[in-house]
Amino acid sequence: MENAETALRHGSFIELRLDWVNEPREVLPLIPLLLKRKAGPKAKDTPLLQATCRRMQNGGLYRGSVADQIEILINAAAAGCRIVDLEVESALIAREQAVAVLRRDALLIVSYHDFVSMPVIDKAMRQLLRFPADYYKLVGTANRQSDNLIALDFLQSVKKRPGEQGKWIAFCMGDAGVPSRVLALSRGSAFLYASCPQKAPSLLAAPGQIDSDKLLNDYRADKLNRRTAIFGLLGNPVKHSLGAAIHNASFRAKKIDAVYLPLLASDLKDFRKAAAKYPLSGFSVTIPHKEAILRMADKADKTTLKTGAANTVRIHRGKWEAINTDIDGILVPLRHAYGLSENDTLPPDFRAVVVGTGGAARGAVIALQILRCPNIFVAGRNHAKAKKLAREKGGQAITVASLTDENFDLLIHATPVGMWPQTEESFLQADQINASTVFDLIYNPVETRLLKIARQLGCRTISGMEMFLVQAAGQFEHWTGEKAPLPLMRRVAMDELKQFQLQQQNAQR
Ligand code: NAP
Repeated sequence: MENAETALRHGSFIELRLDWVNEPREVLPLIPLLLKRKAGPKAKDTPLLQATCRRMQNGGLYRGSVADQIEILINAAAAGCRIVDLEVESALIAREQAVAVLRRDALLIVSYHDFVSMPVIDKAMRQLLRFPADYYKLVGTANRQSDNLIALDFLQSVKKRPGEQGKWIAFCMGDAGVPSRVLALSRGSAFLYASCPQKAPSLLAAPGQIDSDKLLNDYRADKLNRRTAIFGLLGNPVKHSLGAAIHNASFRAKKIDAVYLPLLASDLKDFRKAAAKYPLSGFSVTIPHKEAILRMADKADKTTLKTGAANTVRIHRGKWEAINTDIDGILVPLRHAYGLSENDTLPPDFRAVVVGTGGAARGAVIALQILRCPNIFVAGRNHAKAKKLAREKGGQAITVASLTDENFDLLIHATPVGMWPQTEESFLQADQINASTVFDLIYNPVETRLLKIARQLGCRTISGMEMFLVQAAGQFEHWTGEKAPLPLMRRVAMDELKQFQLQQQNAQR
């Protein structure tokens, strides 16, 4: 009841998962009480309730027989639920006549779920259509990006069948299936399922479900259409990225008809196929694909080629144009800190050390070279890797142990140590921080343990959030040709981080 009331504060159409309570019959008397409430964010709508009581063997939690399940749904309809959902497995056991009774007092959804992979669509469709219904729901699980296209193409095709328009709901479960959820309405899905916004990550009714506030306010799933330009973040994982919040807010602020989606993928061949079919207008790239994507690109600028990694692709007439805005993400905050304009260089005796030897460290070395830094040092827990980076990109390798004896103007930290949730850790201790400026590339948290120590030592500090915002603004400008709304991006990123941290703290309680 408490969950239903929370849901009614966010929207007027809610699904009651009767199988999630111990005794579904006991909650039926509460349905008329819920219907008396006013629903929606303005508390002025009449609730519309759907009852679902999915059986254990079909992916739900209800342990009773099909006959009992149907009786519960009939009683839920009599109590005021306008829609009832019966899974096709139960329908097949109950047979047509018993299923038809469910339409007496309510609209009937017959649903098909595949919790492992994408079903053979024609076969699933034939099974569903055996039962006359008001809606049909066909849901698979996405394991790769192209699975989304199976659901979206199906929605497009079914729209053209006489009598079928507006009757089908289709999307994919799973983290790789988020694009199909966001785009489903734009391709003709009768409606969408979302979770209830909660202070802590809640039990999701299905894997990959997005909360209704995010779906409607961030992704604007109900405002998208076939012409909406599609962008996204390619990577693995992509779940906790701030990119969707800031890019979607920027598109909205600039009145650009575009959406930015998480594009979880490990198979890049499949991703390329899906990118052409969505079709994508561009994408950001994160771990572990930055190097591979550059190799797959049709075009890249000199600096990106030198870096050996791309974090941004624009797709123009099917061709992939790769750039690396991470370099600017390091350059711009440094120029700002040292008061340098575009062609200015660092002083002739300037000494900078980069700690870390991965992709971000490589970007930092190249940014320092663009600033003509005369003394670049590289240190990492693996000294052989530090030597290799110094040899390949230019610089001198030093050991982490020797940092206590050296002095630098600038220290750039490029390892993940100190990143959420290990916020109490720092790769470097106070005696190893011998630099007047410390730039930590980590952006979550905005002030890492390393930056706290550096601030207490009297150093000037630069947060990875500055890098994050500049690289995101560069992506936005590369894709849209418009100036990025930086203050808005900053506000959204900070809000999103705060919300994320609160949710995680609540979840740990
Ligand atoms: P990466 O390619 O995986 O490199 C990570 C580096 O950190 C490697 O040198 C690795 O050493 C080292 N490392 C990993 N775990 C360590 C540990 N426990 N102790 C000491 N060293 C450790 O990752 P990346 O892309 O360079 O990213 C590094 C960090 O930069 C990220 O965690 C992220 O926070 C930050 N970043 C920020 C932005 C931004 O926009 N602000 C953008 C990109 C990256 P080994 O090679 O020995 O494993």
